[in-house]
Amino acid sequence: MKIVLLGGPGAGKGTQAAKLKNHFGIPHVSTGEILREARSSGTELGKKAAEYMDAGKLLPDEIILGIVDERLGMPDMSKGFLFDGFPRTIPQAEGLDKLLHDRDSSLDAVVSIDVPDEMVVDRLLKRAEIEGRADDNRETIKERLRVYYAQTEPLKSYYTGHGILKSIHGVGAVDEIFERIITVLR
Ligand code: ADP
Repeated sequence: MKIVLLGGPGAGKGTQAAKLKNHFGIPHVSTGEILREARSSGTELGKKAAEYMDAGKLLPDEIILGIVDERLGMPDMSKGFLFDGFPRTIPQAEGLDKLLHDRDSSLDAVVSIDVPDEMVVDRLLKRAEIEGRADDNRETIKERLRVYYAQTEPLKSYYTGHGILKSIHGVGAVDEIFERIITVLR
């Protein structure tokens, strides 16, 4: 199973991704996690990532596609995978299609988790208290939402055009939402 999880900041992608990873036994690849790890190890990538992340901006597509290309080359990816937080722009989606095509592969489904903005802000501010993520403050959240609508939401039409978009209502209990996802993937 080769899946992409789509959704705005705080839509619950990470939570559902962890459950899907166990359910299907496939690697969960979160570009946000990879960048946060690079950041805490203080690498060049991490330093660069910090500037963009703390401003609520996206990293350049080439950097992200480079990370994904490298990850796709690892042996555990052959049986399937779940991307979370990637692709986030049309060029990233086109880049992913090409990287997969070069490997005689393609996506099976793109699941969009849809949650109203007002719920997202509360969720993220709560997460800020618990996890202390540097990019979870009111200003950055507003910017991440703006960036989501400008750059990432157009991916829904892109994948609808490819006939693989599945939209999920993202309000409810974690397990309910998980069931909705499993149902559309059947
Ligand atoms: P969330 O979905 O909650 O906003 P993520 O962990 O997916 O959080 O991403 C956090 C930040 O990392 C983003 O705001 C952005 O700066 C950077 N980032 C993550 N994935 C990408 C990507 N695919 N393209 C560009 N920037 C990214």
